[in-house]
Amino acid sequence: MVVSSPGPAEDVVRLPKTDLHVHLLGAVRSETLADLARAAGVTLPRPAAELYRHTNSAPSAEEEKHGPWYPLGQVCEIIADCISHPDHLSRLVYEALEDGLRESNVVYQELSYSPDMHRLRGMKYQDVVDGLCDGVQAAERELGVKARLIAAIGRAGTPGTASSMVQTVVEYPREEVVGIGLDGFEQAGPPESFVDAFALARRYGLYRTAHAGEHVPGGANVRSCLDELHCNRIDHGYHLLDEAALVDRCREEGIYFNAAFTTSRRAWRPWRQRSITSMVREGLNVTLNSDDPALFPTTVASEFTIGARDAGLSTNELAGIALNGFEAAFIDDSTRNSLKQSFNTALSAAPGDNATQGTSQ
Ligand SMILES: [Zn+2]
Repeated sequence: MVVSSPGPAEDVVRLPKTDLHVHLLGAVRSETLADLARAAGVTLPRPAAELYRHTNSAPSAEEEKHGPWYPLGQVCEIIADCISHPDHLSRLVYEALEDGLRESNVVYQELSYSPDMHRLRGMKYQDVVDGLCDGVQAAERELGVKARLIAAIGRAGTPGTASSMVQTVVEYPREEVVGIGLDGFEQAGPPESFVDAFALARRYGLYRTAHAGEHVPGGANVRSCLDELHCNRIDHGYHLLDEAALVDRCREEGIYFNAAFTTSRRAWRPWRQRSITSMVREGLNVTLNSDDPALFPTTVASEFTIGARDAGLSTNELAGIALNGFEAAFIDDSTRNSLKQSFNTALSAAPGDNATQGTSQ
């Protein structure tokens, strides 16, 4: 893919963009969490905004001095404790889409949700998915933003619960639910444990993505996700840089990697920046995403700003990353083409010196 030179990095930040890797529970506004907690009678360990500022996984020795820290997984469990009604989920989806549009001009999001976290709190899957889809539809109707949903398997669960979750998803098909994902810390279990769940999703035409190459060195998990889970995309993937042959393969196969500079582990940010820049320079297809935007916090716009300011990516590279988001989205070709058209029109209209030619198709 060749992109003509756009203007300064700020022009790329303003372009219509995608966010393909957002966890719904990581995108909850602190004020909304405070509301839901109050209504549910849940006592938060700290006021919501403060709790978010103390969310961190595997803090460094320096960071430990500024603790206490609440692990990401624990904070997501607390947020899930405050959710009991489809309307709560509609609100969370709507607000996540509204925030993405307002802060970053995100016109298309793929939001990941965890059916089992709600099932364990007594919510029926139909109620969960109805609430989520209502939020997607309201945002499309009122804000003009598009979204699709990804049902995520938690790695800490068993292969059996993962398969039965996917079975439930296929029993209640919704146009908005387009795929499945695999979440959680990679140390909790290898991707191949979930081969049956992913095979079931594949059989029913659901797209597949998975967190891999984020926490565990080497390329094994990325390779398993491609070869055994038949993933269409990889979330993160940084550790594949440990294996040159795997980098070559992913470049040749045009695999898309959903990267994020800010989230997961604060102490790892400099390493992440170097990894993402290396992936781009190696010719891999990278997208930039917000991941858990409320908890860390970040936005897609700030991810692009970090790319320009701290990670040394050129405006041309950033425009290519923005376009990759539309290419990698789990949508039909006519939706993809119309989204790409609005991207190219905005790129042509950007005020930068050489921003008049748009991108190649
Ligand atoms: Zn993630």
